[in-house]
Amino acid sequence: MKYITKYKSPNYNSRNKSKIQLIIIHYTALRNTKEAISYLCSKEKKVSAHYLISQDGVIYNLVNEKFRAWHAGQSFWQDIIDINSFSIGIELDYSPIGKNNKFSSKMISSLKKLIIKIKDKYKINKKKILAHSDIAPLRKKDPGKYFPWKLLENEKIIFKFQNITKNDTKIIEDWFNKYNITSKKRIIIFALSLIGYDTRQVYKNLKHYNRLISAYKSRYLSELTYASKETVYTNIIKHLFKNLLTKN
Ligand SMILES: [Zn+2]
Repeated sequence: MKYITKYKSPNYNSRNKSKIQLIIIHYTALRNTKEAISYLCSKEKKVSAHYLISQDGVIYNLVNEKFRAWHAGQSFWQDIIDINSFSIGIELDYSPIGKNNKFSSKMISSLKKLIIKIKDKYKINKKKILAHSDIAPLRKKDPGKYFPWKLLENEKIIFKFQNITKNDTKIIEDWFNKYNITSKKRIIIFALSLIGYDTRQVYKNLKHYNRLISAYKSRYLSELTYASKETVYTNIIKHLFKNLLTKN
């Protein structure tokens, strides 16, 4: 796989021996690759990513994988708070409001190859290939609801939770009920926290709860624009069930 290594970001530090376990996908929300390179390589901006992929599918390696790039910001997944130390960050030259508002097939084809390469190299679990919005649902929307997650799922590059029958979800519901977790909202929050999401600030704050749900929907239910509360609930239960059954 060929990378452009001409541009380097000064924005990185040591991983302090943290093991790489996650891949985080972003979009730049900038106008083009040139602007993205200058932003991600500017000392003043204090941000970076290991990789940037252009609309033409060119991959720029801006930070060596062995270092901790600064792409995640304040974020959380499972028990990890310092996501930057444990992850590889990939930026896509995409802006929802720019001329680069399409995930081009060349871009996605390069992204797929890059993910597979990193995944194999560090033995990264398919469940740990995540959106920035997964790890910071209250702050971030990228890579957004038009990102082709389904394509990556169908090609078995990332985790797919569908294909669970309705009956299977009963096991999970019974299990929650056994522990007196009976309201659907509580079950949703509990399930999302078991999947990995940061749910610490959501139970008593409706705005935060809604943001978490929309982050989840943009990632997993983007084809169902008007998914009902019931659909979201059933899908989260199925998701948890499949999550518990699947090792990788
Ligand atoms: Zn991001």
